[in-house]
Amino acid sequence: MFIEQPPEIVRKLYPSALWRTDPTAKTVCLTFDDGPIPEVTPWVLDVLARHGVKATFFMVGDNIRKHPDVFRQVVEQGHRIGNHTFHHLRGFENSSNQYLEDVRRAHDFMLEACHDLPPEQVEAALHPILFRPPHGHMTWGQYMVLRHHCRIVMWDLVTRDYSKKLRPPQVLANVMRYARNGSIITFHDSLKSWTNGNLPYALPRALDFLREEGYTFCLL
Ligand SMILES: [Zn+2]
Repeated sequence: MFIEQPPEIVRKLYPSALWRTDPTAKTVCLTFDDGPIPEVTPWVLDVLARHGVKATFFMVGDNIRKHPDVFRQVVEQGHRIGNHTFHHLRGFENSSNQYLEDVRRAHDFMLEACHDLPPEQVEAALHPILFRPPHGHMTWGQYMVLRHHCRIVMWDLVTRDYSKKLRPPQVLANVMRYARNGSIITFHDSLKSWTNGNLPYALPRALDFLREEGYTFCLL
């Protein structure tokens, strides 16, 4: 519970970050962290396309550098992109200068990877700038700078699809138990979530469940 649905006290650590959208609207926002990678991200895009859903991808800059074609697929299919640092850094273990430079570098690689795409497509994908700190933490100093440059997005529900300790039905059960109006839901388009079987099992079923419950899907 403490992990899947962060309590108020944790949310107050970063008061201007977005943890949940409108609690009166029957909508959820799907987010995917740690891509883009060719082994998983195109599969996620196919599942989303089949369900007619747009989502937000918080990407690691080094993965964009390695897989710019996968990055472009995400942009071309009309999804939102957010920054997740270049090296997937832990805020508490890095100086503010190092951390902010890493965020900037990820942003530069995004611009580079889509420089020849239609400007309106790039604008829709990248603006306003979204940021999610890896592992959900950053120092107060890092936060105070970033909040002026980006919209910081945390989550209302993390599925824990990355966990080796959870079986696929438990990941789906997390969505069924904790999804609520305005939830920002976090999955991972990563090898961890893929090889443990959690994402392939839970994502399509979660989409079916949320739709059956009457949720619509919003973009950040
Ligand atoms: Zn991450």
